[in-house]
Amino acid sequence: MSSRYADLAQRYGTPLYVYDLDRVEAARRDLFEALPESFTVFYAAKANPHPELLRALREGKGRSCRVEISSTGELSAALVAGFLGAEVMYTGPGKTHGELAVAIAKGVRTFSVESPTDLEHVGAAAVAHGVRVDCLLRVNSASASATTSIRMTGTPSQFGFDSETLPQLMPRLSQVEGVSIAGLHFFPLSNAKDEQSLIGEFQHTIELAARLRRELDVPLRFIDIGGGFAAPYGAPGARPVYDKLRGELESTLDVHFPEWREGNPHFACESGRYLVGDSGHLVSEVVNVKDSRGRRFVILDAGINTFGGMSGLGRLLPVAVEPDADGAAAAQTASLVGPLCTPGDVLGRNIALPDLASGDLVTIPNTGAYGPTASLLMFLGRPAPAEVVVRGGEVVSVSRIEHVRTYGQRDE
Ligand SMILES: *Cc1c(COP(=O)(O)O)cnc(C)c1O
Repeated sequence: MSSRYADLAQRYGTPLYVYDLDRVEAARRDLFEALPESFTVFYAAKANPHPELLRALREGKGRSCRVEISSTGELSAALVAGFLGAEVMYTGPGKTHGELAVAIAKGVRTFSVESPTDLEHVGAAAVAHGVRVDCLLRVNSASASATTSIRMTGTPSQFGFDSETLPQLMPRLSQVEGVSIAGLHFFPLSNAKDEQSLIGEFQHTIELAARLRRELDVPLRFIDIGGGFAAPYGAPGARPVYDKLRGELESTLDVHFPEWREGNPHFACESGRYLVGDSGHLVSEVVNVKDSRGRRFVILDAGINTFGGMSGLGRLLPVAVEPDADGAAAAQTASLVGPLCTPGDVLGRNIALPDLASGDLVTIPNTGAYGPTASLLMFLGRPAPAEVVVRGGEVVSVSRIEHVRTYGQRDE
């Protein structure tokens, strides 16, 4: 069976991720077009911290993304890709003293904080470095609106300040040295099911932000209203295009923030999967096909160590294989499994597949987000997949994540 990426698979081996920077740039353009013109967009490096993808979101024609990170590893990737510390926002509920010190030393000056002690830790790190940094208070809204596959607010959570407690907390928060409370950060949902849910959630967030602005009595300069932009994951399908979003956001902002067009306050959104999801394909070789008690298993050289750490969390099954051989139609129903010695190494159960035999290549589409770094890379000690980046059909980068054990003292 042939594959669009047979040449690359031949050259670099499988399993193999192929990322197409032209598609990253298209997604970036579409997302900026779907938002009001003054909006900042943060790319959530968690989705894929590959430096070439990060670079493609910063450089080139059109407006640049800033980057949102949650670890020193993501920070290094962003800096390698050309981002300045000043373009980075550091988020996450468990930022350690060590990570904060490194981030501030590298020039990061914007932090999203999720609890009073988190704010105090950021402040202490800033004071130790002799600087003052901007903090956005991440808000866990007391209510929720849209439906989604991953909901992160409205319930008890390690993320964000419970919105109803913020007014009483403000006196304590305002006293923390080394920080300026610059605004608010919301991230209520991921992967919204359709444009209407996305719009509904943003309207809800904007209303809550306006209410908090009145109640908190601090000048808010910057409001990140979050994301929820959707993308297909490991299955065929097209990235949605949001036609109505921009107009709806503008009219909602006109009502609640009459000076927003003058930048008072400035607004931002964030996305991981929408920006990079459809740039990636995972090419894998069929190692074995076996039948067991009436069921067929197609065994690939890519499993949850290569794709689907997130699936391993029980969240995002099933993947599907693109019948990418010239018009190969689905001819059988089988389980698509990986090579690992655990019955959990399943990429999909009962999926429709073309006829496959050992040595055939299959392609799993839409794997640009939550690929290698969201997978159980170390499990069973197989090498990480090769990652090839192409632009205009030309290979621009070939790499592979190495995992090695080092002995002795803890490193910075
Ligand atoms: C994971 C995450 C994102 C990215 O989510 P996507 O669904 O990939 O767009 C953005 N912001 C925060 C705070 C996140 O935790």
